[in-house]
Amino acid sequence: MPSHRCGEPSSVGYPVQPPKFVEPAGLYIHIPFCRKKCPYCDFFSISDLSLQPDFVEALLVEIDLKADPALAFDTVYLGGGTPSVLPIDSLQRILSAVRTSIHLLPDTEVTVEVNPGTVTAGQLAAYRQMGINRLNIGAQSFQEANLMFLGRIHTVRQVTDTISWARRAGFDNLGLDLIYGLPQQSLRLWGKDLQQAAGQCVEHLSCYTLTFEPGTKMEADLRQGRVRPPAESLVADMMTLTVERLADAGYQRYEVSNFARSAALRSRHNQKYWLSVPYVGLGPSAHSWLEPERCWNKKDVAAYIGDLAGGRLPIDGRERLERTELITEAVFLGLRTTDGIDGGRFDDRFGVSLEQLFGEVIGRLGAEGLLTFADGRLALTDRGMLLVDAVAAEFVQRV
Ligand code: SF4
Repeated sequence: MPSHRCGEPSSVGYPVQPPKFVEPAGLYIHIPFCRKKCPYCDFFSISDLSLQPDFVEALLVEIDLKADPALAFDTVYLGGGTPSVLPIDSLQRILSAVRTSIHLLPDTEVTVEVNPGTVTAGQLAAYRQMGINRLNIGAQSFQEANLMFLGRIHTVRQVTDTISWARRAGFDNLGLDLIYGLPQQSLRLWGKDLQQAAGQCVEHLSCYTLTFEPGTKMEADLRQGRVRPPAESLVADMMTLTVERLADAGYQRYEVSNFARSAALRSRHNQKYWLSVPYVGLGPSAHSWLEPERCWNKKDVAAYIGDLAGGRLPIDGRERLERTELITEAVFLGLRTTDGIDGGRFDDRFGVSLEQLFGEVIGRLGAEGLLTFADGRLALTDRGMLLVDAVAAEFVQRV
């Protein structure tokens, strides 16, 4: 295992045998600004944009401090928040600093999240020019009423404009985010959203269920009876419809909520999270992972800026996972993917096979049609995916 700590660079690389599954790492950069806070969102972001210039200076310092010669990266993901609210020259400076300080492999996937209503055609052309090769567009819905309910600042027209500007700028790898399971949303209307999204012919679709996260305005509305969530059975039907309709349109599911036109068009960056590959997070609230340690940055833009101005890493906390926790995470994350858990890799990591640890539960849930165990891979069926958390919990009881 690497001897240096998560979130802090080593000066000498891997001093002992590197782990067998060392793979290129992912770099995540959290841009903590949004034009307006959406009522359902619990990602860390603020709508006061006045701290942006100081934030960018602080981020440049953090890039420098966290540069780690022991790691090579093949993905960079700018998320948030809304990275597209940053001025073009700020984004340019951030990417130049990354390229100068961090070992990026050839053909690195560089993704930026953009929200319709915060980008222009010229901005997207500049993104392409600066080497960004993938965009993830926060469309959320193709129905104006849904966008209004979700408190989004954009219109459907702005979604389709963003897609056509991106194509014109030369992007050949676009993803759209969609949300379903809204109060009052029918199965038919969700089907219409899926049809419109698939009709855009983008390479990747992420379809998330609306969740009522503690501390959000939407959750307060729920508690006070101002909104009613849809029935669980309707949400399950929506998920089933999603898989069917998107398969008909040529999208293969590869994770509970993620679909791509081919294996090569999956989000290379997000797959690192599900496979426990190392990742380094920069920016307020960003998490870093270097097995067996996770650490995370302060969730406060001013404190983040203050720490870095003083030359200190803005780390808020860290935890070292024990073997049982690592196995629990491997099961929870692996079962979310259609590739499932690779038995050989599991054996290498933990010194025990999936059959030894989970033989009984694999047999039982397999007989119920919730999972398959073939060619050394343990994966959920579509029916199992509907119950992913409950199935994973059955495994975890045996760890
Ligand atoms: S734009 Fe995205 S990150 Fe910003 S508040 Fe809305 S959902 Fe959250």
